Amino acid sequence: MTVRTRIAPSPTGDPHVGTAYVALFNMAFAHSQGGEFLLRIEDTDQARSTPESEKAILDALHWLGLEWDEGPDNGGSKGPYRQSERSDIYRVHADQLLDTGHAFRCFCSSDRLDALRAQQMEDKQQVGYDGQCMHLGQDEVATRLAKGESHVVRMQVPREGQCTFNDMLRGEISIDWAQIDLQILLKADGMPTYHLANVVDDHLMEISHVIRGEEWINSAPKHILLYQYFGWDTPVFCHLPLLRNVDKSKLSKRKNPTSILFYQRMGYLPEALLNYLGRMGWSMPDEREKFTLPEMLEVFDIQRVSLGGPVFDVEKLSWLNGMWIREELTDEQLAGRLQEWALNRDTLMAFLPFAKQRMETLSDIAPLGSYLVSGMLPIAPEDLKSAGLEEDQLLEVLQYALWRLESVQQWNRDNIFNGLKNVADAMDIKLKPFLAPLFIAIAGSSASISVMDSMNLLGADMSRARLRHAIELLGGVGKKKLKKMEKAYQQLA
Ligand code: GLU
Repeated sequence: MTVRTRIAPSPTGDPHVGTAYVALFNMAFAHSQGGEFLLRIEDTDQARSTPESEKAILDALHWLGLEWDEGPDNGGSKGPYRQSERSDIYRVHADQLLDTGHAFRCFCSSDRLDALRAQQMEDKQQVGYDGQCMHLGQDEVATRLAKGESHVVRMQVPREGQCTFNDMLRGEISIDWAQIDLQILLKADGMPTYHLANVVDDHLMEISHVIRGEEWINSAPKHILLYQYFGWDTPVFCHLPLLRNVDKSKLSKRKNPTSILFYQRMGYLPEALLNYLGRMGWSMPDEREKFTLPEMLEVFDIQRVSLGGPVFDVEKLSWLNGMWIREELTDEQLAGRLQEWALNRDTLMAFLPFAKQRMETLSDIAPLGSYLVSGMLPIAPEDLKSAGLEEDQLLEVLQYALWRLESVQQWNRDNIFNGLKNVADAMDIKLKPFLAPLFIAIAGSSASISVMDSMNLLGADMSRARLRHAIELLGGVGKKKLKKMEKAYQQLA
């Protein structure tokens, strides 16, 4: 049997460091077994998936130096590698499960399901579908289908006993069937859910080892059941430990930038970031901290993965990146890297239309534009306070602006402006005083070019990171206060 692994990102946002981490371990395991590694795009959530996100994910993984043998960009014999192009395949498989009685059509309205859920919560019962449509007679189903009633397809799940399976790293895992919901497999629009598409594709793409994050452990029973229903061999499961913040909570963008694009813009070397990801729960046999991808691939052994939650610590990453810069790059190479990164004509050309109006000498470009090629800015709390708002309001402006900007999908000047204007209006603050602290947080000075243009040039990740940094500088927002602010923010909207 050829070992085949895969990474299956959903293109619903920025390329996440966790995706690169799981991809790296999949690639390393396949390599260690003389196998193959492929990339599949799981874009069944049509409302949230975008081609821009898919492109950003592929570009970011390539930038890191990860390569796959098959995928949407380089093809392969088991394609298409994008789930939105495989709808017919899933429908046939859902039909097969209906025919064999392993799935049933469910006509329940969302009103009924909402009421059921509310009741279950009130009764402190487990929340889940109660199986009402499981017992519909064939005639009734046929009549309702003929009437064109909207429905979904759900899988049958035993209500008693346990699902026991083996995890390559964790050994035997048992989960009660009663905890597993009667999962929707096909949505009312005929699109599959993740669970059906994932299992069908892993089988058809001949994946031998499913190596993914531990957040999927609870889905494994549904998947295993689907393999059984179809009469297919189950792949080996391996659930990697989740990346964590320094305080050991699950890696979250509130505490740590999680987008690879942020690290790119900060000026981390792809080799160093990949090296650091390789140290997440894994170490070289000689425990050395700095190693290249080929060095890792040469000695990789998945059994060396330790399950204690690996901490993604930006300070450690910076330290490692510094070693890479000092020890691995000649001055000539470093100059090349700097040019490739941001010290180039493209950066200038994007900035000059704005900067030109404010220049008297060429040297003015340095103070005007240094914030564009900086990481976190060397600003002090007083700088933010000097923008003229009361301290509480200052925090609110920064936090609300951040939340609003986190929901901007297409990052461009108009969307940034409209988002910020909405918040300012809702808070009943004039745009000028509202934007004043944002100028400091984003560009370090109130004399900078329009803050919307700055954000557009900096990109979403760096802009949000600087807002978060400003909030931290002011002492941050504690959990309790954050909850209160969240409520107030929701009321604004
Ligand atoms: N599409 C899933 C994700 O975004 C893939 C999970 C899996 O590897 O099974 O993480």
